[in-house]
Amino acid sequence: SVIVFGSINMDLVVQTGRLPSPGETLQGDQFFTAPGGKGANQAVAAARLGALTYLVGRVGEDSFGQELLAHLNETGVQTEWVKVDSKTSSGVAMIAVDGEGENTIIIIPGANGRVERSDVDRLKNLFSNASSLLLQLEVPLAVNIAAAKEAKKAGVKIILDPAPAPESLPDELYSLIDIITPNETETKALTGLDLSDEKNGFKAADFFRERGVETVVLKLGEKGVFCLNKAGHFRVEAFPVKAVDTVAAGDAFNGAMAAAFERGLSLREAVIWGTAAGALATTKSGAQPSLPDRETFEAFLNS
Ligand code: ADP
Repeated sequence: SVIVFGSINMDLVVQTGRLPSPGETLQGDQFFTAPGGKGANQAVAAARLGALTYLVGRVGEDSFGQELLAHLNETGVQTEWVKVDSKTSSGVAMIAVDGEGENTIIIIPGANGRVERSDVDRLKNLFSNASSLLLQLEVPLAVNIAAAKEAKKAGVKIILDPAPAPESLPDELYSLIDIITPNETETKALTGLDLSDEKNGFKAADFFRERGVETVVLKLGEKGVFCLNKAGHFRVEAFPVKAVDTVAAGDAFNGAMAAAFERGLSLREAVIWGTAAGALATTKSGAQPSLPDRETFEAFLNS
């Protein structure tokens, strides 16, 4: 199985001609809610591709929490290990998008911010049949480290998406990671290296490798992926698609990679699965609504 430990959010999206200035009241155009959160997105991505997928995290005891759980269940994500936390709200992202596609986002971690050691104890129950554990950075860092330590002990492959981009990560976490999957922004934040300069791919990979990460997978948007470990390095080109909205492309990538490992596929094949799922996710708007189902995915991969 694929295990995801991480955030579950409701995205509250308003569309408006222009963004308001401080103190200003504006009339906007449209409002909708959509399930999100990097943990939930990655779980949905893996489950849609047919992997038995468990999500461990928290929602609040509110209507958003109920809606988020119902949606995850519908998608086939196993949610019995998600805790309903009565002490706080569900995580929300307040997103305002203007006519040019420029956005502002306020994230309230809510229940995600209260994920703690006891959640790691629930997580441990799932490791015996797990092929990989997916982590991101929307639950407290200390708890992610505790989860990684337990997964390491159990011999479960740990895949870290270092997103949202942090300024740095402790060496203790790096040394536990099997695969790290930063995009260009996250790579710049963590290593100071600009990946638009092609030779920096090797330097950035070395930065992570020197800190104990086994395999580095750099997600380069429409330039595809650069992958490096001690066995060597390779590139996978992006699939040519007409991108309309790149939200959750990175989450689609990580979920698909885990689904590939669950099928026993190699690193290169898993990166190709990630690249295909990432490309498909850019062809539709929204986070979870844009994640491909198995039929669409297989047809695309074989085309
Ligand atoms: P993130 O969503 O985390 O910022 P990327 O933008 O690098 O990460 O997207 C993740 C992956 O999705 C990329 O490595 C690539 O394979 C695929 N992808 C992203 N944008 C495009 C695009 N415009 N065309 C084709 N594939 C894309």
